[in-house]
Amino acid sequence: MRIVDIRELTVPIEADMSNAFINFSKMDVSVLALITDEVRDGRRVVGYGFNSNGRYAQAGLLRTRVIPRVLEAAPDALVDPATGHLDPDRIWAAAMRDEKPGGHGDRAVAIGILDMAAWDLAAKLAGLPLHRLLAGLEIPGRPPAAPAEKVWVYAAGGYYYPDRGIDALQDEMRGYLDLGYRTVKMKIGGAPLADDLRRIEAVLAILPDGCTLAVDANGRFTQDEAIAYGDALKAYPLHWYEEPTDPLDYAALAELAARYPGPLATGENLMSFPDARNLVRYGGLRADRDVLQMDPALSYGFTEFRRTLATLYDAGWSPTRCVPHGGHQFNLAIAAAMPLGGCESYPGIFAPFGGFADGYAIEDGHVRLPEEPGIGLELKASLGKVLHELAA
Ligand SMILES: [Mg+2]
Repeated sequence: MRIVDIRELTVPIEADMSNAFINFSKMDVSVLALITDEVRDGRRVVGYGFNSNGRYAQAGLLRTRVIPRVLEAAPDALVDPATGHLDPDRIWAAAMRDEKPGGHGDRAVAIGILDMAAWDLAAKLAGLPLHRLLAGLEIPGRPPAAPAEKVWVYAAGGYYYPDRGIDALQDEMRGYLDLGYRTVKMKIGGAPLADDLRRIEAVLAILPDGCTLAVDANGRFTQDEAIAYGDALKAYPLHWYEEPTDPLDYAALAELAARYPGPLATGENLMSFPDARNLVRYGGLRADRDVLQMDPALSYGFTEFRRTLATLYDAGWSPTRCVPHGGHQFNLAIAAAMPLGGCESYPGIFAPFGGFADGYAIEDGHVRLPEEPGIGLELKASLGKVLHELAA
């Protein structure tokens, strides 16, 4: 069994919306197909991957370093002798050959794209849905656990749009409730504090009992701004206050955590397991309420996320405190497998990469997973079309 070709393509996911830090009108994604010589049911087995929204396509790194290294590796070096199958860990190691430690960033995204494809391939070769394959893996510190049959998801939206006011924000949130979500999230920090408080109050006013609101500052605030917002946000029953400070400013986060009583959430812009380890070591976060959002698809893939999870077990954190950023079927499968506390979801945006398999409705804030082998990316028809065109 060998990889015969690796193809990548850059696809735009442009949208004229903004968070506190960036506008998405030039956003794009890399899609990758890992094509093998293996044929099952008359079709060539192909693994697919892409990067989560919010980081750009990685065509350059994929073309010049990641893909050539995997194609140049001795075919046997990529195969697990125990199974005879192409092995994600070995593919990962080949792609990271001659890379120094540190310097995480776009490289972590490029490797994450390959890693998603490698796990999709591994699950297809094993004839298992990815969440069932991953649930059987050994991770130091992890007690044996059956995969969850459904995963808690929340609707991430509430961006700033040039032509939308508070009424439109309320309508957007009502739409998420109608879809079955019970927790919604909106952006803050892109408007003055007083305006953001009006937006928050407007959303809280339309939420029925049992539904909650999270807010996300996208790493925008200085320590003083984060604390000023925190002092104001304390008055509201928020699900969490997300990414108040720069992702790597652990001291500022710790200052905020010492005085903000509600749950804090962060981690989506940590691109490696050493960064995640520093977050739990130095960020002042509280294992009984705070939320870790490291996104495997943006940070060297599940192969690296296993190391992160082992670190969390070691530090006394439950994986149920993890709710990855990303909003796609790969992170959903990881969330079901470990199991984690939940997974982000982007209803209606970042198409066709955001969202889950077609026909799996949100029910009371949870979603079930398909049982077809692989991640199940092709089960979303609009995404499957892009993937199949790349491999054809
Ligand atoms: Mg966020």
